[in-house]
Amino acid sequence: MNTSSNVDQQELANFNQYAHKWWDTDGEFGALHKINPLRLNFIKRHFAINNKKMLDIGCGGGILSESLALEGAEVTGIDLAEDVLNIAKLHALDSGVKLEYLISSAEDHANQRPEHYDSVTCMEMLEHVPDPQAIVQAAADATKPGGLVFFSTLNRSNKSLLLAVFTAEYLLNIVPKGTHQHDKFIKPSELSQMARQAGLVLIDSAGIDYNPVFKRCALSHDLSINYLMAFQKPQNEVIEP
Ligand code: SAH
Repeated sequence: MNTSSNVDQQELANFNQYAHKWWDTDGEFGALHKINPLRLNFIKRHFAINNKKMLDIGCGGGILSESLALEGAEVTGIDLAEDVLNIAKLHALDSGVKLEYLISSAEDHANQRPEHYDSVTCMEMLEHVPDPQAIVQAAADATKPGGLVFFSTLNRSNKSLLLAVFTAEYLLNIVPKGTHQHDKFIKPSELSQMARQAGLVLIDSAGIDYNPVFKRCALSHDLSINYLMAFQKPQNEVIEP
């Protein structure tokens, strides 16, 4: 699969359609705002963000990207949904947060800046692409040896079908309808296998519990719905003379 085909145009259209609602904390992307502090905490458990070069793949309107920049990282956010990226740029101007946003596929960006970043994040994006393995590989390629890669996605379990799709999309309207296709969700074993194939080593995982009634969330050990994984790219082996 070439890089330009690893994109689902219908998915991008869905995101573009709601771009203007991205920073509305009670709107379609409210769930991303709710879980963002948890994602940030998970990253900070493993990685000292300040002054590091970070890439956010599928950055959307920049919820995570901006929060990483506010923690002192030099952030590049990439996405292929143009309207969404324009919202990200406008919001950064408004909030005065300095970061770089580029329209680019993960694969092209990794070719342009191989082993450039101390850490790469890719949140809630793998379940929207035709070939997640290629994105995982690109994330690994863009990371310096010794650097960390963070993913979050939705598990393909019965519980996630019921909760994430039915509850989130249809009852509470917290994400736009049609945003998620359950067969594209990814089991933790599959994500860790993709990462292994890309040369990454699993160092931690956590679930995100979302209580739709109280609209509260917390990190947990339950990976059955929404989960985070942290990986390390091994250091290059030093060949002794
Ligand atoms: N990572 C952000 C946004 C998640 S929504 C966050 O968690 O806050 C998923 C994002 O992935 C959308 O902005 C969508 O435009 C983007 N996306 C989907 N397919 C993509 C692809 N093939 N390449 C780059 N970005 C993509």
